[in-house]
Formats: sequence, structure tokens, C-alpha cells
Amino acid sequence: MIISSAEFITSAVKPEQYPPPAHSEIAFCGRSNVGKSSLINTLVNRKHLVKTSRTPGRTQLINFFLINQALSFVDLPGFGYARVPAAVQKEWGPMIETYLTSRENLRGVVSLLDIRRIPGREEQDLMNWLAAYQIPSIWILTKADKLSKTKQGKQLPAISREIGLPQENLILFSAKTRQGRDAVWEKINALCLSA
Ligand code: GDP
Repeated sequence: MIISSAEFITSAVKPEQYPPPAHSEIAFCGRSNVGKSSLINTLVNRKHLVKTSRTPGRTQLINFFLINQALSFVDLPGFGYARVPAAVQKEWGPMIETYLTSRENLRGVVSLLDIRRIPGREEQDLMNWLAAYQIPSIWILTKADKLSKTKQGKQLPAISREIGLPQENLILFSAKTRQGRDAVWEKINALCLSA
């Protein structure tokens, strides 16, 4: 995918603050520190379009970006970071659910899982929401470079079993080696074209 432009548009909490639904939109979702910023930056060939953070989970905003003047990317707030106060964590569910259920130009959600970790309750919740609202999803295992091929071969079936998705639906991704970048773009383009 050739990227001619990638720009930050706005941050929002409530639907009134979302930008007009002018373009096909893809949202990115995952646990704090899973590598979401790194994935988006890799997809758009920018180092710092989305800020990677050393204090994960702080920002509880929905951030909108415009790619190639034609496609909207949405960075949803990361969930499950222990140092975020319980009250803030509680707001996460309704904020995401409101977005997922009200955004008319949403074509699909890219869900990120750390390849080293077995998915937990939040990922199950997300999975259930996406199924309930019939929102197409792309599932990515991040930080693939951190595991040897042998360990990848063990984690893949374990994660697949836990979230109930066939292994071939899980894309191995690394922001470090850029493994999986083309595969992710292919799926994103397919979702936008099929809409
Ligand atoms: P976010 O909180 O989900 O946006 O996660 P970030 O993209 O900020 O990444 C969290 C940490 O993981 C950072 O220190 C990144 O450098 C690191 N990281 C992210 N993706 C990868 C990857 O593919 N490989 C490796 N080795 N480290 C990564």
C-alpha cells in the first residue's frame, strides 16, 4: 500500500465530537501496550503519527486519522492497564460500545493480541460485542519477533482455541521486522471494498 498522506484529524469522547462520516473507517482496538500505535505507524509508514507511550493506558480518547485523503483510521483507547483508576477503566466499555454501535461508516475492527499472552476477559468481551453487532474483524498477533518460530507455533493454536477463531484468521505481525504489514493491508482493503 502506497501512503501519500496520513494526518491526525481529531480526538473525541462522545459521538457529537466524531468527525463527519465521510470515509470508510477502520478502528484499532487492544490492551494497552499491545503494540497498537506501532501497528498503525507501520501501516502508514510514519514513525510518530500515533504516539507510542511509555505510560500506557493514560489516554482515554478516541483518535481519528485520515489516510490518503480516502480512509479513516481510528485509534480506540487501550484497555486493561492496571495503573488506570477503576473509574476510568469503567468508562472504557461504554465509550467503545457507543462508538462501535453508532459509527455508520465503520467497516471493521482490527483487534490486537500480544502473541506472548493468552487473551483474557476484555478480549472475550470485545469478541462478543463484535459478533453481536456483526462488525467484521481482523485479528492480529503483535510482537511476533519476540518469539522463536517454535514458540510461535505453540502460541498460535493456544490463542486460536481461547478466542474461538481458526489459526489461519490470525495474522502474525511485527512492527520491528514489518512482518504481516501487507497481509493486514490486504484485509483492510477487502473490508473497505466489500462495504
Ligand atoms: P500501544 O500502547 O498498544 O499503543 O503500544 P505501543 O505501540 O506503544 O508499544 C508498546 C511497546 O511495545 C513499545 O515499547 C514498543 O516499542 C513495543 N513494541 C510494539 N510493537 C512491537 C513489535 O512488533 N516488536 C517489538 N519487539 N516491540 C514492539
